[in-house]
Amino acid sequence: MYCARCGVELQKGVKRCPLCSLPVWHPDLQEEREPSPYPRYTEPETVSHRAVLFLLSFLFLLPALLCLLVDLKLDGSVTWSGYVCFGLLTVYIWVCLPLWFSRRNPVVFFPISMAAALLLALYISLKTGGHWFLSFAFPVGGALLLLAEAMIVLLRYTVGEKRHRSLYILGGGVIGLGGFCLLLEFLLHVSFALPMLWWSLYPLTVLVMLGMMLVIIGLSPPLRRSLHKKFFL
Ligand SMILES: [Zn+2]
Repeated sequence: MYCARCGVELQKGVKRCPLCSLPVWHPDLQEEREPSPYPRYTEPETVSHRAVLFLLSFLFLLPALLCLLVDLKLDGSVTWSGYVCFGLLTVYIWVCLPLWFSRRNPVVFFPISMAAALLLALYISLKTGGHWFLSFAFPVGGALLLLAEAMIVLLRYTVGEKRHRSLYILGGGVIGLGGFCLLLEFLLHVSFALPMLWWSLYPLTVLVMLGMMLVIIGLSPPLRRSLHKKFFL
């Protein structure tokens, strides 16, 4: 038996064509339906990961506590173990914290993770007596956070059905990254007295060109169609 619409050969017992989903109907075959050859779709079972997460949290907590105890025993105060604890906490926030939630919204988790990384930088800066947090780490981290968060929010809430909008957003993000390189070189110059060699102009030029290309592709439907055909994008 063959599908009346697309002509694909049908197995006995199927109720719909597997290719075009046209219902299969034949006046002579009404009564002799066999069981469907395909298994029925059932919702996948949801497994609770809580126990694993508790274990994972414990695996982070244990070395932190051990280091703290050893450090206190040896030096009588928190010296190197502070770095270990803050480092482990930051990794935990980046990797494990989102796993506790079934709906992981990067709009929420990305700023939290970046804040944790900045706190780690602040701690190291204070402990080592460096004065690079406010003049370097904070503006660099803040600029990256704003740029990436803006892209995440725009990609998540404005693209929808109009997929070519993501090209404008990505293009804007790439150009923003070029500007970020310029800012990075300037801040390195200000904070660490590195000479301004204007190396950042090279990535800036490349990234601006790349970003413009993405925006132009987004603006031109024929170009998008031909790229879609060539690269299956
Ligand atoms: Zn069909």
